[in-house]
Amino acid sequence: MDLELLDQTLADRDEPRFRARQVWTWAARGARGYEQMTDLPASLREALARELPFSSLTLQAEAQASDGTVKALFATADGRPLEAVLMRYRDGRRSLCLSSQSGCALTCTFCATGRMPFARNLSASEIVDQALHFRRAEAARGGRRDAGGAKAPRGREGTAGPAAITHCAFMGMGEPMLNLDNVLGACERLPDIGIGHRRTTISTVGWIPGIERLAEEQMPLRLALSLHAADEALRSELMPVNERFPLRDVIDACRAFHARKRRRVFVEYVMLAGVNDRYEQALALARALSSGPTGGRSRGGQPAFKVNLIPYNPTDSPYTGSTREAIASFRGALEAHGVPCTVRLTRGREIDAACGQLAARAS
Ligand code: SF4
Repeated sequence: MDLELLDQTLADRDEPRFRARQVWTWAARGARGYEQMTDLPASLREALARELPFSSLTLQAEAQASDGTVKALFATADGRPLEAVLMRYRDGRRSLCLSSQSGCALTCTFCATGRMPFARNLSASEIVDQALHFRRAEAARGGRRDAGGAKAPRGREGTAGPAAITHCAFMGMGEPMLNLDNVLGACERLPDIGIGHRRTTISTVGWIPGIERLAEEQMPLRLALSLHAADEALRSELMPVNERFPLRDVIDACRAFHARKRRRVFVEYVMLAGVNDRYEQALALARALSSGPTGGRSRGGQPAFKVNLIPYNPTDSPYTGSTREAIASFRGALEAHGVPCTVRLTRGREIDAACGQLAARAS
């Protein structure tokens, strides 16, 4: 829902100021339309249905994988494509991957979005509408915090029952730091949907001004760095942005974020066969993350970084994914050198769940 247009529409009708909050509360709880907002006058519900589209996005396609992962392809009102993904886990967690831009100008060579033309930044409402789409879907599947239903029991960080969406990462299309005002505007709304700030991660390729701004931000959001190669030359090849912000400076900025916020920084590392998955490259990564005045640790001794190794979801690129054995030995080398490390579960592979794949195929 275009929340600015909502304010304007209500102001034009001389509605009291609390009406916007009422409408938003219904939407955040998974209402499927204005007609469900029974504490609004019927005439207002009808007027809103006439004048204000319930979502700023139109669903173009949706695919569900056997592991429960759902990927949605949307179009904005001016026809720009974007994607979002819902991941469902056996323990009840629901996690979203949201887009911040339609397309991306940063042309990382392993990324399907990087091969699409950049269209524009998404508004805060267009970002929130991705989350609301899945909020409605989960409510329809029987989420306990259903539309207008009784107050759901609140868990940690304002989350609700087992079908509630609890986590979110800005790891979809686009570089969030290049649209940070709108990303932060959306983050302010996410707790109403059930996603607390401490469970919201903003991922960056290393856009230092954005990292610095996030370090000063009041909301306790998490930071993830897409790193992918510890060697400057290889990283520049994979991610041209490295020419502008070299890795050593980016790591310093992440360390400063960690020192300021006392939040560990996630390092994303996509495993590409024969490109960045060798033993000595693991050692170089461990060295890069462990260097610095405190050996890469906080004063309390906690490592500043945690690495997530990501099995590559094949796109129409020259790369193939590393073998399971290569990933395991890379992980072993990192852990042997004191760098905490996990291997991300592969999800939604059969539905092109990696960033930009669905939009690329649809275009
Ligand atoms: S990985 Fe992220 S920053 Fe790089 S091209 Fe893809 S969407 Fe853009």
